[in-house]
Parts: sequence; C-alpha cells; structure tokens
Amino acid sequence: MNVYHSRLHHLHHPAFEVFDGGVRVPYYETPSRAETVREALAGDARFDILPPEDLGILPILAIHDPGYIEFLQTSYARWQDVPTDYPKEALLPATFALRRDAPRPRSLLGAAGYHLMDLSVPITSGSWQAVYGSAQCALNAAQHTLATRQNTFALCRPPGHHAGGDYGGGYCFLNNAALAAQALTPLGQIALLDVDYHAGNGTQDIFYARADVFTQSIHADPNEEYPYYCGYEHETGIEAGAGYHQNYPLPPYTTDEDYLNTLAHALRRIREVQPAALVISLGVDTLGGDALGTFRISRAALAQVGAQLATLNLPTVIVLEGGYKTADLGDNVLAFLDSFA
Ligand SMILES: [Zn+2]
Repeated sequence: MNVYHSRLHHLHHPAFEVFDGGVRVPYYETPSRAETVREALAGDARFDILPPEDLGILPILAIHDPGYIEFLQTSYARWQDVPTDYPKEALLPATFALRRDAPRPRSLLGAAGYHLMDLSVPITSGSWQAVYGSAQCALNAAQHTLATRQNTFALCRPPGHHAGGDYGGGYCFLNNAALAAQALTPLGQIALLDVDYHAGNGTQDIFYARADVFTQSIHADPNEEYPYYCGYEHETGIEAGAGYHQNYPLPPYTTDEDYLNTLAHALRRIREVQPAALVISLGVDTLGGDALGTFRISRAALAQVGAQLATLNLPTVIVLEGGYKTADLGDNVLAFLDSFA
C-alpha cells in the first residue's frame, strides 16, 4: 500500500494550547504522533512510504476559501508586525465569531477569530508549510487511488476533519479527507466515513449541500464532547445534499459491541448509495485510554472496523485524523491497516 507522508509536519509544533479554564497545556497534537505511525509502518515491507509531490494550490482551492488560505499563508508574518510587549511565537486569538453574518474584520486578530474556532489551532512560523504538506499527502493518495483503484494511506499531520471551507479548529487547518474526496469525484459517487472520536464537523459542513459526496460520522455525542455545535443525529444535509449526511452520536464510554453495531448501520447506508470510491477519516482516539476521548474501544474491535470496511471492496483513501495516546498510536494504526488489507 502506498503511504504518503511529508516531513514538513515537523514545522508545526506549537509549544502550547489552552484548555478549559484557561489552562495552558503542552500541545497534544505533537510531531511525535506522526513519527510513531511512520516508524510502525516503516518496519513493514507491505507499506511504501513516499513523500508527496507538490500538486499545487488549485486542488486545495476546490474546497477552501481563497481568503482563508491567504490568512493561513500570511497571518504569522503579520502577527510579528503587531506592536505588543508580549511574546508572539504563535498567533492565537482570544475572541471568536459566534455568528458570522458580519464580514471578516480588517484587523489580524479579528480575522483570526473569524477563521479559527477554538484555542487548539495556534499558528506558528512553520504552520502553513506543515499544513500544506499534510494536504498534499491526501491529494497524492487520492491521485494514486484515482489512477490505479488501489487503496492508499495519507499519513497526515496536522489532521483535517474539523476544518471547514473557511475555518480551522480542533488541531485542523485544511480538511485533508475532503480534499481527497473532492479529488476522487471523477470516479462518480463518493462515500466518506469518519470514525474519529470527535464529530467531523468540517467535513459535514463542506459537503452538507452536496449529494456527490455522501458523508457519515460516528462519534461522541456533541452534547458532551467537542465540537459541541455540530454532529447531531437530525443533521442530514440540505438542498441537493438532503439525505446525504448521517451522524451517529454515541454516549461516553461506548464499548465494542455498540460501536460495531453502529458501524453496521453506516455500512448499510454506504452500500445503498453504491459509491465508486471511499474515503475514511481514521481517528483512533476512540480507543480506551486516549488522552482526549472516553470511548473504550479495543484494538481488536478497531481491527474489526477495518475488516468490515474492507468488505465494501471499494478503492479507498484512508486519511489519518486524531489519536492522542501516542505510545499506542503506531500499533493502533497498523492494526487498522492490517485488517483493512
Ligand atoms: Zn478526534
């Protein structure tokens, strides 16, 4: 299986994020996450780890707003020019656009609160390069799957599924899975399944009015968990996309049996739409002991998720999302890919 991975991810390593209560904590979405996965796959001859070729900005602009891209590209440099006495190693706003009917403010901090949804997306000097490299991994994976119908794995970092067309949040800046799905649309109907612990709000948002990419997300109930304002069962798409989105919110501490039953529903829906290709947003923060999740999914059940998805027998792009028990991350991803292959 071709695996696309960019070393540029190292350039995004913020020193901190801010948790509830205003607590400054070391950044959870660390470079060592991707390294752990890369090392697990590098020792296995079945995986070819390849650097992505640069497919340019145009496929990114098929999903993301030009003003947002320009913000990501330029905001760190602009931040350095803002006259303040405090340190500026990362741009992180303290005011957020609760309702976005107003136009984007001219000021940098106003624009930052317009384009970012929370305190987990500090923009540092190398963030754009890392984010761009991550997006290119997804685009390269999709390009290979499109050309060969073979399955691919995009070892992305930063992750992407919380990023919408013109906003970032939840460690995500560009929506890698959405970029892959868009790139696969020449094949016909696409299905995208998000199995990260957190609702894939950005992916939902991007395709919400579209039927050509059928999106589903199995995740912790947003009544209890981030991203809180998206991922409810009644959200099923609008306009041309009405009926082409499905959320499966599950309660805290969900265990294997309930999870796998829910997956079976999602698989039935995928079969109904008869897609030509599949994108999987693979978050492994569903597993027991994850630093940012409450589910108690076992590695054996994760392998069953992979095996079940493989029965769809579709050309598939697997995109790495979350997973914050870094010591287990490589083995968990390997268990999924093993069972899928
Ligand atoms: Zn997650």
